[in-house]
Amino acid sequence: MFGLIGHLTNLEHAQKEAHKLGYSEYANEGFEFWCSAPPILVDEFQVKSVTGATIEGCYIESCFLPEMLNSRRIKTAIRKILNAMALAQKHNINITALGGFSSIIFEEFNLKENKQVRNVELEFERFTTGNTHTAYIICRQVEQASAQLGIDLNKATVAVCGATGDIGSAVCRWLNQKTDVADLLLIARNRERLELLQSDLGRGKIMGLEEALPLADIVVWVASMPRGVEINNETLKKPCLLIDGGYPKNLGTKFNHPDIKVLNGGIVEHSLNIDWKIMEIVNMDIPGRQMFACFAEAMLLEFEKWHTNFSWGRNQISVEKMEQIGEASVKHGFKPLLTFS
Ligand code: NDP
Repeated sequence: MFGLIGHLTNLEHAQKEAHKLGYSEYANEGFEFWCSAPPILVDEFQVKSVTGATIEGCYIESCFLPEMLNSRRIKTAIRKILNAMALAQKHNINITALGGFSSIIFEEFNLKENKQVRNVELEFERFTTGNTHTAYIICRQVEQASAQLGIDLNKATVAVCGATGDIGSAVCRWLNQKTDVADLLLIARNRERLELLQSDLGRGKIMGLEEALPLADIVVWVASMPRGVEINNETLKKPCLLIDGGYPKNLGTKFNHPDIKVLNGGIVEHSLNIDWKIMEIVNMDIPGRQMFACFAEAMLLEFEKWHTNFSWGRNQISVEKMEQIGEASVKHGFKPLLTFS
């Protein structure tokens, strides 16, 4: 069995969807209530591969909200993730993906030091961040969507916002090794980490977001922002491809311009329908088939019986591992989302 640990994008979203997740009594409760709410296993389902194999899975709602980070409720955020992991382990789940901010909190606050959660000793090999598959899917989206739009990668400038992150650095490594993109712009806040990445890659220009946007033909958004940023479309090149892999989304602006194309980044479409609730709740266009690539990674690990923390630690994702999970992804019928929103 595989597991998915997830969370909703803000308090309003969590309140609105509480009844669909089966706990309508939470719908009118405020922030403090959500801070003390325990994780809940809310959905169980089957996933069929195009190979014919079928696996069982479940979704665990951690009741974490990104506002907990904004309001510096760090201990609360940590408790949410550890409790959700302990719940997955109590259900004897082989491999569980830590979706969205779950893995970010795990890494940021060094939770590998917190193995004991009451009477459960966490076995980290049962968990994966899912970031290797996410990075692979975003890279395939860069390659395939740019071709659709007639953007020639070997003449293109690609900006990566969140370049020093786990997903961002993997995307940079892939673009550097596997494509001939003309220029890479590296965006994040911590200068030291940017310089380290630049030296590892042996290329790339370190830039602020405002300076980079007018130069970029393609922008990959993989920054861990609790809220989306507003962008003026005047500042963007035309045409421009924006691939937003953030959860919650990095882009706070809806664009209405024929030459600005936005793609939901790190999203895959499965070839066969899944009867589950969660993807409708997070507003996927085709909830029976579309999902976060990190969730799909847990499915791939279960299909292949690779019961190991395939994606673990920060900035460890190699191009070889992206290729390995990519092959499994194709084999079991997952495709990168290529429809613009
Ligand atoms: P990390 O924490 O590893 O990296 C985050 C990156 O964002 C760092 O480079 C950080 O650098 C940068 N960053 C944070 N805030 C800002 C800011 N305001 N401006 C510019 N850069 C910023 O995160 P992950 O790589 O694990 O995840 C990235 C995003 O992808 C998250 O939104 C996450 O929820 C989403 N995600 C999506 C998945 C999917 O399946 N689609 C799966 C997993 C994650 P610095 O702090 O120096 O600024």
